[in-house]
Amino acid sequence: MKLLLVEDETKLAEYLRKGLTESGYVVDVANDGIAGLHLALEGGHDLIVLDSMLPGIDGLALLAALRKSKQTPVLMLTARVHVDDRVRGLQSGADDYLTKPFAFTELMARIQALLRRAAPLREDATEPTVLRLGDLEVDLLRRKATRAGRRLDLTAKEFNLLALLLRRQGEVLSRTELAAQVWDMNFDSETNVVEVAVRRLRGKLDASFDHVLLHTVRGMGYVLEART
Ligand code: CA
Repeated sequence: MKLLLVEDETKLAEYLRKGLTESGYVVDVANDGIAGLHLALEGGHDLIVLDSMLPGIDGLALLAALRKSKQTPVLMLTARVHVDDRVRGLQSGADDYLTKPFAFTELMARIQALLRRAAPLREDATEPTVLRLGDLEVDLLRRKATRAGRRLDLTAKEFNLLALLLRRQGEVLSRTELAAQVWDMNFDSETNVVEVAVRRLRGKLDASFDHVLLHTVRGMGYVLEART
């Protein structure tokens, strides 16, 4: 899931970028309305978090320009509490509204709700949002993984790793590819970040089950599959 964050308060923008990234989203940030509009129009975002008071073009004007061609879900952030402004925002095409200051958990809950609502409308909605392998079930939108009905307590990286392996189940993925896709880094043979994460994931995913799903293919990488 890729988000665009348009926010000119750099401290807040950095705090949100960090939190959203740790929650598993890919986040683009724009610090003014003009850069924000350019990025928004380029598309490719599943959702836009848009501050209302921005230098360059303000949030409402940006939204009005965006809505001429794109229906990307927009969550407006505003310091204004007046009903008129909320109404104007919603009339301009905002999908939801959050008044500053807000708790990060509330922002996350609203983002998840909007993404769920938008799921059937997404252009790339061909990809299912719940993936399964045997008794393993991974809900990409709710970011929840269960095995035999039991919730797996995964970190953001472990979840992303599992989701990638599950999306490409039966396919051997190299450490290099996993490092690039999940950690956004070029593999460096000095680091064992992938091995460590796989070991932790394996402990949570497979340790208490007879049927192991995550397999090591010596010299090649890892594969997620149900073997009989
Ligand atoms: Ca602002």
